[in-house]
Amino acid sequence: MNTLDKGFDTKLIHAGAFEEPYGSATVPIYQTSTFKFKSAQHGADCFSGKSDGYIYTRIGNPTIKALERNIAELEGGFDGIATSSGMGAVSSVYMALLGAGAHIVSADAVYGPARGILETDFSRFNVEATFVNTSRIENIKAAIRPNTKVLYIETPANPTMEMTDIAACAKLAKEHNLILVVDNTFCSPYLQKPLALGADVVLHSVTKFINGHADIVGGVIVTKNEELYKKIRHSMVYLGCNMDPTQAFMVLRGVKTLSIRIERAQENAMKVAEFLSKHPKVAWIKYPGLPSYPQYELAKKQMNGFGSMMSFGLKGGYEAGRKMMDHVHLALLAVSLGGVETLIQHPASMTHAGISKENKLAAGITDDLIRFSVGIEDINDIIEDLKHALEAV
Ligand SMILES: *Cc1c(COP(=O)(O)O)cnc(C)c1O
Repeated sequence: MNTLDKGFDTKLIHAGAFEEPYGSATVPIYQTSTFKFKSAQHGADCFSGKSDGYIYTRIGNPTIKALERNIAELEGGFDGIATSSGMGAVSSVYMALLGAGAHIVSADAVYGPARGILETDFSRFNVEATFVNTSRIENIKAAIRPNTKVLYIETPANPTMEMTDIAACAKLAKEHNLILVVDNTFCSPYLQKPLALGADVVLHSVTKFINGHADIVGGVIVTKNEELYKKIRHSMVYLGCNMDPTQAFMVLRGVKTLSIRIERAQENAMKVAEFLSKHPKVAWIKYPGLPSYPQYELAKKQMNGFGSMMSFGLKGGYEAGRKMMDHVHLALLAVSLGGVETLIQHPASMTHAGISKENKLAAGITDDLIRFSVGIEDINDIIEDLKHALEAV
């Protein structure tokens, strides 16, 4: 079915699916490493690009293609490139768009390993990186150099929840001939569509909201045009960080319920945020849906809802937070986010432990910050769990 003119929720279910001889209701798992050519000529044509037949699963596979087309339609892009993990997506994008002598401007609160690989690995190939608080456009302007090739942002940032104005970044990127890359993991295309706001490349850890069930890791890149698609696919295929067909099947299954999962999760998150913001032991809370949130207006303009991620700190600082995390029963004390289950974690000692203390503080990742990913359990149980854990503090 051609779903290009269909609504978002229809695309979730049907985009990317293809006709196959048995009329399967779902996209089958083509669990094969290689594909038989019809003739020697056909094999040669597949390699030269004259025929678009499948060759080898690292290069392409029908189950994986279905997922790539699905996410590309959801993001409104040219096509997708699925990867073994979110970091596979990040690495493929860096590999394709950066080279010796190139410079990238990125967010100081960017996903930890997305910063780490630039600092410890790409730096060995003479790639330079500057990390700034991208929530203020003047910081980005000041960091741009003649050799800057890429502007890389994540909004809302993890775990500080600070937002970056995508449309303003796109305008700046255009003026300076930069490729704007947006990590849209925190929002998913249900809440935010960076390509429509002028971005060139969007990427996801589909491990999070898109798959949504905490049972696989994976990544997807979507580009606005064919040129970027070919360039990044080449790097992905050569790096060898392709997704596996079964992984793609799992994500195709998970993505179907993206809208209803996020709707419920953000409805729960609003109630959790209201509860925490009134609790006497809570020192501060950042949730885009609270009118007290400094970028509430930008959240309303740029996002289709406020999401289910928040961060907060307790009056007793890290010690109090640790006590609280040791006393939750329903929420899982675990990293990752965006699943059906509620998760709690401490970024300074967990997800962002690899960043120096100085860089963490500069990025606003304070020692008291607790990250909370609200799931779709019964809201009364989530709040009861928090109430009980806070009593132990
Ligand atoms: C988890 C995450 C990644 C990395 O994804 P993996 O699937 O764990 O490799 C990248 N960006 C963001 C914002 C993430 O949350």
